[in-house]
Formats: sequence, structure tokens, C-alpha cells
Amino acid sequence: MRTGSLRIFRIAGIDVYVHVSWLVIFALVTWSLAEGYYPRLLPNLSSAQAWALGALSALLLFASVLVHELAHSLVARTRGIEAASITLFIFGGVSSLRTESTRASSEFLIAIVGPLTSLALAGVCFVFAAALGEPRAAALLGYLALINALLGGFNLIPGFPLDGGRVLRAIVWQVTGDASRGLEIAVGAGQLVGYGFMVWGVMQVVGGDAFNGIWIAVIGWFLQSAGAATLRQVRSEQRLSGLRVRDVMRPDATAIVPGASVATLIDEYLLPGNRRALPVISAGRVVGMITLRDIQGVPPAARAATRVEDVMGGREAVVTVTPDTPLAQALEAMLAGDFEQLPVLDDGRLIGVLTRADVIRQVQLREALHLG
Ligand SMILES: [Zn+2]
Repeated sequence: MRTGSLRIFRIAGIDVYVHVSWLVIFALVTWSLAEGYYPRLLPNLSSAQAWALGALSALLLFASVLVHELAHSLVARTRGIEAASITLFIFGGVSSLRTESTRASSEFLIAIVGPLTSLALAGVCFVFAAALGEPRAAALLGYLALINALLGGFNLIPGFPLDGGRVLRAIVWQVTGDASRGLEIAVGAGQLVGYGFMVWGVMQVVGGDAFNGIWIAVIGWFLQSAGAATLRQVRSEQRLSGLRVRDVMRPDATAIVPGASVATLIDEYLLPGNRRALPVISAGRVVGMITLRDIQGVPPAARAATRVEDVMGGREAVVTVTPDTPLAQALEAMLAGDFEQLPVLDDGRLIGVLTRADVIRQVQLREALHLG
């Protein structure tokens, strides 16, 4: 998720990231406004002013997307769902929430507030654009009104992963009482919309409008592949449902002490045991996790003098699971923290390790056997 993204600031406790693809959009929007929209609307504008207005509009487009995403995150918070971060990327923004809604009403409110906020912003900009006499301000606000109306309108299309798709999911969920049925229908609708956009894009290209056509087709491709990916993820979560950590974990209580050297770790634990990681235990308590990744920064010559506790992960807080933790929840924790393995504790005592590879293998096994 974070790959290729830059953290730019933190607002209301939510980290805001910008994906590098957004820089492309910034340049494209600035250019098309400075060379097309503004000179057409204001023929007396100097080139420098047109470019300045173009760049300002691109920044305010960014702010509009951010406000839309913040609306999702803040409503999620009032429904008890913590908002982790917002990433702005080529097609808009993505709010990442720490957990999924557990109620259809929450899903509905969190989804609908984004497009409503954009449409409200569009209305405000429109009113000010009409009221202001200054032609440059009016042109800028007119652009913002249009862009926010598009943002709100596009996101209301009832296909997952768009907000309208989430609204559809919540409605089906509420009516049938079945959350995954709701998602399946919303994803199906999203894929139809995606294919529709692709066909429309191709028709535009054939009709001679290559630029818009390709753009529309790419959006369509994005929509249908995002839906397919979500559905795959949900299917594998369903395959995991009912399974617990004890079903997949390796019962292996081997651990190392914090004061051991990295050389000892490699020669006596990792290589002989064919392991990539090991829990670190002090006074019977798991205090960290040492992985290949942690020791890769230690040069071979320094391995004898470097202690495990100096480079191990989880020094602030170790993420652990118990044998009874649902496997889907354990996998979520691994993905959220980018962990390859988690120590399994029973009554605080280390009894084994759960690796991401083992969870994935279990999913594939069940898939091949048509189980779950
Ligand atoms: Zn949205």
C-alpha cells in the first residue's frame, strides 16, 4: 500500500500520503488548464498567469479529493472505526480504515458521505463563481465546481470499489442480512461498469478521440480489476473462516535470548533449523522477533559483536496471536504490520509460530480441494 507513496502531512490524526502517480496528474492538470481552459475563458490572460492559475487549480483539485476522503475517515471515526491513512493517487483517493464495518448502517454512512461532501463543495463553488465579479476567481471556482461535481457523481456509480458500490453493498447487506452477498453483488456491478467504461473508451478511440478514449478505458480496466481483486480477497477470507491459528501454526517453541549474538543466531538457529525468523524471549516473555530482514543490515564481520536485541523487530510492542485467534484476523495483522510471521502464545507462553507462507499455502490447498 505504501509502496511509491510519500507521507506529506498528518491531519486530525490521519496520515496523508501522496502516490507518485499523482505527480503525473498534477502536471497534466496544470498543463491542460494553463494551455486550454484558462486561455479559452480569459483571452487577455498572460501565459504566466495562466500557468499560475493552472497550478493553483491542480492544488485545489488535490484539496477537493482530500476533503472527500477526510469525510469518509471522520464519519468512520464517529462509527467507532479508526481511520489509518489517506492516500491520494492517480484516480483520486483511498481512505484506509483499520477494520471493516461490522454494520450495514456504518458502511452506508461512511460510503455516502464522500460523494455528498463533493457535491456540496461543488454547490458552494458554483454559488461563489456566479456571485463573484472577478473573472479569474470566477473561472477558478467554476473549474472547482465542475471537478467536485464529477468527483461526487462518478463516485456515486453503484459499482464496487466506488462509493456507490459500497452504498449498494450496504443496502443489499441490510436487506438480506448477508454482508458477503452484498459485496458479491456490488463487485459484480462494479465489473459491469468497468467493462462498460472499457467499451465506451474503445468506441471513443475508434471515433477519433484517442486521448479521452484511452483515459476512459484505463478507468474501466482499473474498476474491473479492483473488483476482481477484492472478490478474490473475500473468497480467501471465506476459505479461512472457521479456521484458527492452531490449525496452521508450527508447534515450535524455539526462541533466542536478547543477549545472543547475531552470529550465534545464524549458526545455531537459522541455518540448522531452516528458519527465516525466531521469537526473542527474556524471562519467559516474548520481547521481540528477529528476522532475516533485521539482520541483513549487519555486515558479516560485525555479526559476532552485534546482539540480537540491538536489531530485532517489535522492540516497542510485539504483535502476537493465540491458538484460538481466527486465522483471517491473524492474516490481517500480518498484512497490516507487514510481518512474515507472528509468535503464537498460549497463556503468555511461546508455543509456536504462524508464518504468512503457511497461511497462503493453506488457502491454496483449500482452493485446490474446493473446500470452504
Ligand atoms: Zn469516496
